[in-house]
Amino acid sequence: MRTHLTAGPHALRAHGRRLASVIVIGGGQSGLAMAYALREHGFRPVILEAGKEAVGSWPRYYDSLTLFTPARINSLPGLPFPGDPHRYPARDEVVDYLRTYAARLDCEIRTQTRVTSVLAAEEGFAVDTHDGARHLAPFVVAASGSFDKPHRPDLPGLAGYTGTVLHSADYRNPAPFAGQRVVVVGAANSAVQIAVELARHARVTLATRTPALARRPC
Ligand SMILES: Cc1cc2nc3c(=O)[nH]c(=O)nc-3n(C[C@H](O)[C@H](O)[C@H](O)COP(=O)(O)OP(=O)(O)OC[C@H]3O[C@@H](n4cnc5c(N)ncnc54)[C@H](O)[C@@H]3O)c2cc1C
Repeated sequence: MRTHLTAGPHALRAHGRRLASVIVIGGGQSGLAMAYALREHGFRPVILEAGKEAVGSWPRYYDSLTLFTPARINSLPGLPFPGDPHRYPARDEVVDYLRTYAARLDCEIRTQTRVTSVLAAEEGFAVDTHDGARHLAPFVVAASGSFDKPHRPDLPGLAGYTGTVLHSADYRNPAPFAGQRVVVVGAANSAVQIAVELARHARVTLATRTPALARRPC
């Protein structure tokens, strides 16, 4: 892959002090909160985000998702989550909140910029992006989450199974399953929320190794 060098995004001196630049990979809640903290400590972070917006993986979660954590513990530093603090927000409220948070953040956010590699360089790191650019920075924070790489267990017999197998990361709504038999594997929040939703449209079995956990409200 041919690369070209861009100047290290920010490395400047102010009041005789070197303000280091930091590249933050991923513009989800972790990357945004990290960038906020870095600004508070005098760094100049640049967020590189693969998606169109710095709102993390939330828009890719299933349509009916309701948080299992109340609004009061979903605030990122510097911006309270809006509305009743005791309610359980819906997916799109989180997306709206993160969009507002990103817009108010005093830092550069480069969207549609997927990081393809991070290499040690003489004075820090060389961060390559899909467009062939190379960014140099003394510090790099990986905040790329795990949703891009869902765990798909290698279940015995799966190769010969003729039905549809879907990971919860690819589930959006119950419409494609109407009238069918569905086994939902798992016992935590995604599995239980999806199974309850599907049960109104399909014949559903919840398969778990242990009794399903009822999470207490925080
Ligand atoms: C179904 C479901 C329900 C959940 N419910 C709750 C809940 O009720 N309460 C709660 O607190 N948490 C909940 N979570 C967990 C919460 O969504 C995650 O903990 C949170 O999104 C993690 O934030 P993050 O910023 O680390 O990762 P993400 O939100 O995944 O953000 C990572 C970002 O990095 C970007 N990225 C990835 N790779 C690259 C790359 N190579 N280059 C550039 N950018 C990259 C992605 O595009 C993404 O925007 C839930 C999760 C799921 C799946």
